[in-house]
Amino acid sequence: MSLKRLNSGQTYIIFVVTLRYCLILLNAFRMSKTVPKRRFFLLFSLLLLSWVSASAQSNRNFTVFLDPGHGGKDPGNMHNGYVEKKITLAIALKVGDLLSKQPGIKVHYSRTDDRSVDLYARGPLANKINADVFVSIHCDAHESAAYGAGTFVLGLHRADKNSAVAQRENAVIYNEENYQSKYAKFNSDIIGIGAIQEENLDQSIRLASYVQREMVATAKRRDRKVKQAGFVVLYETIMPSVLVETGFLSNANEGAFLNSSKGQDLVASAMVNAILTYRDEVALNTLGANTPISQTVFSVQLFASEKTIPVSDPRFRGLNPIWYEEKDGLKRYFYGEASSQESGAMLRKKAIEKGFSDAFIVKKTR
Ligand SMILES: [Zn+2]
Repeated sequence: MSLKRLNSGQTYIIFVVTLRYCLILLNAFRMSKTVPKRRFFLLFSLLLLSWVSASAQSNRNFTVFLDPGHGGKDPGNMHNGYVEKKITLAIALKVGDLLSKQPGIKVHYSRTDDRSVDLYARGPLANKINADVFVSIHCDAHESAAYGAGTFVLGLHRADKNSAVAQRENAVIYNEENYQSKYAKFNSDIIGIGAIQEENLDQSIRLASYVQREMVATAKRRDRKVKQAGFVVLYETIMPSVLVETGFLSNANEGAFLNSSKGQDLVASAMVNAILTYRDEVALNTLGANTPISQTVFSVQLFASEKTIPVSDPRFRGLNPIWYEEKDGLKRYFYGEASSQESGAMLRKKAIEKGFSDAFIVKKTR
């Protein structure tokens, strides 16, 4: 039995048994009179404890973040009387229900009812809870009789951003307040993919290929393949992320399928199978599942000083959080931590507003 596959009940039993052994060993340690014996018992207890803690760590939950596309004032596409935001929510809730029954899986959503959530805010919600995968669920539309399912990962270039499907799914940002500043970076020629997304691209493609395979095998959709495109919603995430176009509402047959409870059940089963395969074959078999993944973060350097300055000092002008790094006797003071360069730029703007006119962004790996 692999340690990685233990469920919470098994871990609990092992924990109790080990604790008992430790108590027995500790007692033996107290009773033993010779130094070598004492050393042996102490070493053995320590080894046992570290094994238990390692097994508990490897048994951490696998967290799935589900993002039902659109919602609230943004209905998504509407054809033949079918409304995208309703279908994506129904599918996401079914996926979540099925996954929640699996031991060791936690599910979070960007929305669980009919509400508006800005595109740029969805990724950070998943980042905040340290999700292992991000799955955005959508339905497509076209003026032709096109049908079938396709799965997308983040594309890096202008051409990807301008793909018809990405344009449709991104269109909602123009209805959001202050969209020009919120999406400034995205509107530039090159999307400027971060190091984290680049690192995740391989894993995103693996997850996308499992989803695509299942959408064909289980949900019986026509295969529209795995593709890259510039979706705003995938831009801010720091974990493997995919966007699934489950089918075309503009196609009368496929629209009826996606709008039916039976169709949604099949699509949900396909996604669940794919996510479980990904967890078992990729996430648990990479070192990353048991050791902290190195993350690139963006922070703002305010100034350097030889003195140690408490973070609550008025010299930081109320900025929070503040941290420092020491090198060659000089302490460099930083403000904040962001997952993208764009969010880092917002932190810098705030620092400048507070009077740190020389503040600049630094990229860190931790
Ligand atoms: Zn959509």
